[in-house]
Amino acid sequence: PPSAAALEVRGLSVGYGPVRALREVSLDVPAGAVVAVLGGNGAGKSTLLRAISRTLGYHRGAVTAGTVSYGGRDLHGAGAARAVAAGIVQVPEGRQVFARMTVADNLRAGALGATGGRTATRAALAHVHELFPVLADRARQHAGLLSGGEQQMLALGRALMSGPKLLMLDEPSLGLAPLMAARIAETIQQINATGTSVLLVEQNAALALRLASTAYVLDVGEVALHGPAAELAASDEVRRRYLGVV
Ligand code: ATP
Repeated sequence: PPSAAALEVRGLSVGYGPVRALREVSLDVPAGAVVAVLGGNGAGKSTLLRAISRTLGYHRGAVTAGTVSYGGRDLHGAGAARAVAAGIVQVPEGRQVFARMTVADNLRAGALGATGGRTATRAALAHVHELFPVLADRARQHAGLLSGGEQQMLALGRALMSGPKLLMLDEPSLGLAPLMAARIAETIQQINATGTSVLLVEQNAALALRLASTAYVLDVGEVALHGPAAELAASDEVRRRYLGVV
């Protein structure tokens, strides 16, 4: 797989019209790392991912200050297609698979922005089928017929089809039973082990802090805490507010 580069977010502010969703957020994803972003509803987690994947415009949002760069290159002015070409791929919250298309066609759609050509696409498909054999078994079924966990696998598989260097996951465990969430977590580790960096947004702080080396806590659009995941997992504030420990 292509080698990962470092993502640098500096002083990023984002607004949706008059709504200020992010204020001067700075964050790093070192090459090959898993970094987690925690925070409650409306903290700005999805907004951060949209700013990085250059999809804010589809949600009528705009960057009002700050920079996002990947591998030392400023993504200012880049569209979503260029972010994908640079190796940055987002799996949106709620999976958003194409329900009336087959599993195979969903995966093919994931290769549309890829730059590697047919051989790379074939290798990516083999890798996805190895990670998720169920997607090979169900290739001809409509994606809408899959279970929630299988749809999350398909959303992950679709994202892997373009051979991403940085995979951004928005709440991959949302709505999944604990066993299935654990299975997805294991897969995220396997994907990272092949050299892909991961930026993981989660309300499931326990799961995210287990996977990540570094974590950030967003609170009403600002970075309230950040540091090594093990340190955050031990902090009283994180334990009380995000891990449900009283
Ligand atoms: P959740 O987990 O609930 O999705 P989040 O941490 O991902 O929360 P965001 O979705 O990024 O938070 O939202 C941050 C803020 O921006 C919230 O106040 C939200 O209401 C607002 N917001 C998000 N999307 C839009 C939009 N398209 N138009 C207007 N305001 C928006």
